[in-house]
Amino acid sequence: MKVISDPNQATLVDRSLTAVWHPCTQMKHHESFPLVAITKGKGPWLYDEQGNALLDCISSWWTNLFGHSNPRINQAITEQLEKIEHVMLAGFTHPPVVELSEKLAALTKGNLGHVFYASDGASAVEIALKMSHHFWQLNDKPKKKKFVCLENGYHGETLGALAVTDVAIFRDAYGALLQDVYTVASPDARKAKHGESAEDVARHAAQELEQLFAKEHEHIAAMIVEPLVQCAGQMAMHSPEYLRLVKGLCERYQIHLIADEIAVGCGRSGKFFACEHAEIWPDFLTLSKGISGGYLPLSLCMTSDEIYRTFYSDQTKHGFLHSHSYTGNPLACTAALACLEIFETEKVLEKNITRAQDLANAFAWAKSDTRLEHWRQQGMILAFDVKSSALRNTNTFPREMFAKSLAEGVLIRPIGNTIYVMPPYVLSAQETEQMGAAVKRALNQTLND
Ligand SMILES: *Cc1c(COP(=O)(O)O)cnc(C)c1O
Repeated sequence: MKVISDPNQATLVDRSLTAVWHPCTQMKHHESFPLVAITKGKGPWLYDEQGNALLDCISSWWTNLFGHSNPRINQAITEQLEKIEHVMLAGFTHPPVVELSEKLAALTKGNLGHVFYASDGASAVEIALKMSHHFWQLNDKPKKKKFVCLENGYHGETLGALAVTDVAIFRDAYGALLQDVYTVASPDARKAKHGESAEDVARHAAQELEQLFAKEHEHIAAMIVEPLVQCAGQMAMHSPEYLRLVKGLCERYQIHLIADEIAVGCGRSGKFFACEHAEIWPDFLTLSKGISGGYLPLSLCMTSDEIYRTFYSDQTKHGFLHSHSYTGNPLACTAALACLEIFETEKVLEKNITRAQDLANAFAWAKSDTRLEHWRQQGMILAFDVKSSALRNTNTFPREMFAKSLAEGVLIRPIGNTIYVMPPYVLSAQETEQMGAAVKRALNQTLND
């Protein structure tokens, strides 16, 4: 290990590169591409030590909803801090977790009335998988234990969640540790052949799924999907028709449907839950990321009366005995409650219709740029792909584009050749325009240099 002799002389970045092992990073790349030290945030802006401003166009990994250092969320957390910061949730309860659970249940109109908590998204996925598996055991169907997931899907990186993830770069090194799953065609609308619609692609994908279900349903516990947008899978978008068809098939073949709304929930898609676009409710719905407004680690898995009741028994082992130390943390629940209150009192979903239109306008240039293709948008997520013919180096493009964007004062992180923005719901029309123009400049520099 490199020892920094005088930390006062070293920069924050040097000290970080010495002592912090950063996530999702080949650390050696930082020899040539920048690590950014942030000391302050306000609204959609991040600030470094020198006070340089950076527009957070990806909501700090899709977590932030209402800006950094939001006064209402700050105040709610500060007030809760004076009451109780944390207490275990086994054998105990507290006002924030009760209120949050009631509010979330009400948002599903009681269809998913039971909320189980954890801290990170991957843990919420683990909970859904385990609950489904355990449910079938309790219902004398122990053979139903395999999971179905989508090509190009992402559900987190703990071993259970990684097993149902189909992103090679995250998965390949750990394949030997992962359970076997069925991976079926993604309904990614970009697959549409000439004359085909997104609904056609959805129907074809559902037909393939039906063949699997027909043959293997006795062995299948659940199917997991990211409704409408496979975010980590390069913002691949699909028609809500797919969700309707999958819901029907799951009912017909007695297979649970897990909707992983960790990224697309909390208004990202244009409705609070992405499943609402298809007018369906899954058996399990996971939330994290935006639920605490990007403030504190919080995740949860919501489920139905039917599933809850199956575990309700005199026998301890029939219970769902899963736990995490910080399950239902009061501060995190308070942040989430403050967010739900902002949704209600500030008519956020209504206002986001205009914001989404602003976003489309700010990136209208990308629709006619011949170096780009597959321009797409779902609510507050907008993406397009750089054609491979326009790229000099596919591997280094994301890092180069990231660096050029920083120089233009915007934080974006392309995934492969996909450029996307997913900003907090607080940008002014002018900031949105500024973002579109800065991304365009950064892209031109990256492709021309
Ligand atoms: C980010 C994400 C996860 C994992 O959440 P973590 O908090 O990173 O563990 C799971 N599913 C989806 C759809 C995600 O986008």
